[in-house]
Amino acid sequence: MTKPLLIAGPCAVESERQLLTTAGQLHQAVQRLGLALDFFRAGVWKPRSNPASFKGLGHEALPWLADLQRSFGFRVCTEVMTTAQVEACEKAGITALWIGARTSVNPTDVQKIADAVKGKPFTIMVKNPLVPDLKLWQGNLERFLMADVGQVIAVHRGFADGNENIYRNAPCWEIPIDLKVLYPNLPIVCDPSHLCGHVQWIPQIAQLALNYGFNGLMLECHCNPAEALSDTDQQLTPAEWENLIRNLSFKINASNADLIKQRALLEHVDTQLSALLARRMEIVDEIARIKKENNLPVVQPQQWQQVKERYLKAGQDPAYREFLARFLELLHQSSIQRQQ
Ligand code: PEP
Ligand code: MN
Repeated sequence: MTKPLLIAGPCAVESERQLLTTAGQLHQAVQRLGLALDFFRAGVWKPRSNPASFKGLGHEALPWLADLQRSFGFRVCTEVMTTAQVEACEKAGITALWIGARTSVNPTDVQKIADAVKGKPFTIMVKNPLVPDLKLWQGNLERFLMADVGQVIAVHRGFADGNENIYRNAPCWEIPIDLKVLYPNLPIVCDPSHLCGHVQWIPQIAQLALNYGFNGLMLECHCNPAEALSDTDQQLTPAEWENLIRNLSFKINASNADLIKQRALLEHVDTQLSALLARRMEIVDEIARIKKENNLPVVQPQQWQQVKERYLKAGQDPAYREFLARFLELLHQSSIQRQQ
C-alpha cells in the first residue's frame, strides 16, 4: 500500500500539559519510526451519553491546538457538531475536522456543517453513523464531496448493531468494504479505538483493517490513559502506539475483492459467535447457582433432549444437522462440567 494515513491523539483535550506531553511523545515516536503523523487528533467538544460526563474544554483549548501545529508541524483535527464550532475552528486555524458517529446519524446537521465549509480548504473526516446504514454514511460523504472541500476521508469506527459482540462496536466490515467499492479513490481509515473499546483488541482489528485495504488508522493515544477523562480503556500510550505501528504489516497483497469481503463477513459472524458463547457461559453459571440453591440435579436429561430436538429443526441440510448435533453435544457436555 502507499504510505498509510496516520491519525493519533487523545480522545479529548484535558489540559494544556496533557496535550503537550502526548503530542511531544507521539512526535518522538513517529521520528523513531521514520514516518509522519498526518493528523494529530484531539476532541474539544465531546458528545457524551451521560450529561454528567466530561464534555471537553471547548473554546479554551483551540489556541493550544493551534500552537501544536506550529511547534510540531503536524495538522490537528477535532470534532465539530455545529456551524458555530466550525467557525471557531476556522478562526483558530484548525482546518481538519471530523464528524462524529452521533452527528453522522442526522443528515440535517451534517448538511449545515457541509454548507459552512463549502468551497473551503478543509479536510473533513466523516465517521460512519452509529447505525449500520451504508446509505446514510454515503449520503454524508456526498454532502462534503459536493461542497468541494479540500479533502474528504471516511472513518470506520464500528456500529451499534444491537447484537452481542466482543467489541464495543460491531465492525460490520461489509459496510466499509462496500463503500470502498463505490468510492475507490476516497481514502478510508479505520478507528480501532472506538470500534474495540479496549486496547486488548486493537492490534488484531488494526491489522484486519489493513488487510481489507483500508488506507490508514485513527487511534486514540493518551500520555496517561488510566487517568483519562473519557474512553480510558481504549487509549494507547504513545509507546504502545509506536509498538503497534512497528508490528503491523502494511505490505498487503491486493487479492480478490470478493474473497476479502466474504472473509470479512465470516470474521463478523465469528466474533458474534464468540461473544454469544461467552454470554452462554455466564447464563450457565447462573443456572448452576439456582440449581444449587434449590437442591436440583445438574443434569436433567429429559429437558436437554427436548431442547436439542428444537434446535436441530433449524438444520435442513443433513450434513449441517450432523454438525449441529455434535456441536450441541459439546456445548451441553461443557456446561455440565462447568456446573459440576
Ligand atoms: C471520538 O473520536 O472521540 C468520538 C467521539 O468518536 P465517535 O464519534 O466515533 O464515537
Ligand atoms: Mn473517544
